[in-house]
Amino acid sequence: MDDFVKFLKSLFLLELLKGLGLTGRRMFSRKITVQYPEEKTPQSNRFRGLHALRRYPNGEERCIACKLCEAVCPALAITIEAEEREDGTRRTTRYDIDLFKCIYCGFCEESCPVDSIVETRVFEYAFENRGENIMTKEMLLQIGDKYEAQIAADRIEDATYR
Ligand code: SF4
Ligand code: SF4
Repeated sequence: MDDFVKFLKSLFLLELLKGLGLTGRRMFSRKITVQYPEEKTPQSNRFRGLHALRRYPNGEERCIACKLCEAVCPALAITIEAEEREDGTRRTTRYDIDLFKCIYCGFCEESCPVDSIVETRVFEYAFENRGENIMTKEMLLQIGDKYEAQIAADRIEDATYR
């Protein structure tokens, strides 16, 4: 019976007509192709892009070198070295993220007790030379400084909907 149905379908080109019908319907419906990079799709305030290290409004870096982010990172992408400063506080002397290893899971961000390491909305970046995949502490702080307004706004919005 199945073979007979298949024979009838191929005889009357039913599958082909079905396909052409679908093409015809789509031809007149609203197009959803986004003309990137001129057009962009909306982003969630929880978007997990390029990492950043944040500072407090007085310029002091937030990170207290607790190493929770390093411990929780499933890709072992974070490397931290730390020491005590003269004022008795503990700060990192090295904070590297290997973006080749990172899987953008957001665990580092979730684990941070002082909201220091975060993932920004930045996703348009590329590397041209060997070694550029390593984001150093200085680079991460620079990104944090540059996007602080957006980072802070995203966290306020997130807290509003929790
Ligand atoms: S986003 Fe995930 S994989 Fe990437 S550094 Fe953070 S914890 Fe590691
Ligand atoms: S970024 Fe946050 S979790 Fe990571 S070492 Fe600094 S304070 Fe701890």
